[in-house]
Amino acid sequence: MTYDLAVVGGGILGLAHAMAAARLGKTVIVIERDAAANGASIRNFGFITISGQARGETWRRARRSREIWDAVAPRAGIDITQRGLLVSLRFEESLTLAEAFLETEMGEGCALLSRAEVMRRVPGLGEATLKGAIWSPHEVRVESRQAIPRLTAWLAAEYGVTFQTRTAVLSVAPPRLETSRGPISAAAAVVCPGDDFVTLFPEAIAARGVDKSTLTMLRLADPGVPLPATLMSDLGLVRYLGYAELPAAALLRARLERTHAEALENGVHLIVAQGTDGQLIVGDSHHYGDRQDPFMNARVEALILDEFAAATGLTPPPVVSRWIGSYSHAKAHPMFVDAPREGVRLVMVTSGTGASTSFAIAEEVIGELFGESLAGVPIVGGATIAAH
Ligand SMILES: Cc1cc2nc3c(=O)[nH]c(=O)nc-3n(C[C@H](O)[C@H](O)[C@H](O)COP(=O)(O)OP(=O)(O)OC[C@H]3O[C@@H](n4cnc5c(N)ncnc54)[C@H](O)[C@@H]3O)c2cc1C
Repeated sequence: MTYDLAVVGGGILGLAHAMAAARLGKTVIVIERDAAANGASIRNFGFITISGQARGETWRRARRSREIWDAVAPRAGIDITQRGLLVSLRFEESLTLAEAFLETEMGEGCALLSRAEVMRRVPGLGEATLKGAIWSPHEVRVESRQAIPRLTAWLAAEYGVTFQTRTAVLSVAPPRLETSRGPISAAAAVVCPGDDFVTLFPEAIAARGVDKSTLTMLRLADPGVPLPATLMSDLGLVRYLGYAELPAAALLRARLERTHAEALENGVHLIVAQGTDGQLIVGDSHHYGDRQDPFMNARVEALILDEFAAATGLTPPPVVSRWIGSYSHAKAHPMFVDAPREGVRLVMVTSGTGASTSFAIAEEVIGELFGESLAGVPIVGGATIAAH
């Protein structure tokens, strides 16, 4: 059989492209090297972030992708474990930056909460250093290690997408792809290789100035405090470009360089997401280079837990598990799409925002590749996969 589209990579970006093409009625095969996607897409927070995304395209793509997550999750049996974002603020400079953010178009629907309002919403938080919080209603949070397999199963059931796992794609030249298990025939191909820079189109990837960002992640025991929204802290305000690129960020950055130099050097900021079992996914740190360092650094873990304690006023619960993740990263662009060959698109998210933006990127890429707009094409059809 000749498929209309072959997708290389079963992470969120590959799945999003498979779904967009299937919505247009195309026959699709996804080819994944591992037994199941095992990369950034299952190692992340599952935090579909809107507020804080870079102003313009990334922020717009995140809003569109959130709509798609919201439509797909109940059909695919994916739990939305939290809604909204609270950025806890403990410095005057953070409050000033928060006010500046709220004055932009990105502040629409968001609010600056007083300390009393934060405590009312999340009574279990310690309030010693808390000055207030940014509240954003736009975010959703999924448990990625549940969401990615369920999205995969739903795409197969709902749209008849074929998944071929344990298969490495070695070359892509439609109508033929060479794989470790023999050739596959497809009229077009989208390559979403995550942080693999060497197997397919290495020159095109190198020309994009891509390296890897390696992150430290922790799962903590249930602290006994329900967190209705995902939490971030002051440190995130100088990392997330929607805040960090505002002029008011300069004062906060100068302050943090004095008081939190080691955290900044290690790219540490705080995200705390809570699962339905109460456990917390807490991270992270960022170290850049062309390889993923597999060795976790105890000092980096301590910096993350220090920030957790300072921002939440809680004693960190015991660590249940630890892992390393890595994603492709480039200073110059948040993502890119190349056309290394006729009928082929190479797509990479190079900013650690793939859970938040992939669905929108895929609509754009598939629309352009097939010359058919997805505007007006329903996000989901009829089938529902029961939660189990
Ligand atoms: C720790 C961590 C936390 C993060 N937190 C968030 C977050 O909260 N919100 C957010 O929006 N983003 C977050 N990100 C970023 C997000 O996870 C990534 O941008 C996204 O997962 C990238 O998806 P992908 O499909 O491109 O890559 P991947 O998930 O890495 O998938 C690529 C897949 O391609 C396969 N593959 C590669 N080459 C071949 C080949 N030749 N043949 C066959 N298969 C191949 C690989 O096996 C892999 O499964 C985080 C990332 C990390 C690491």
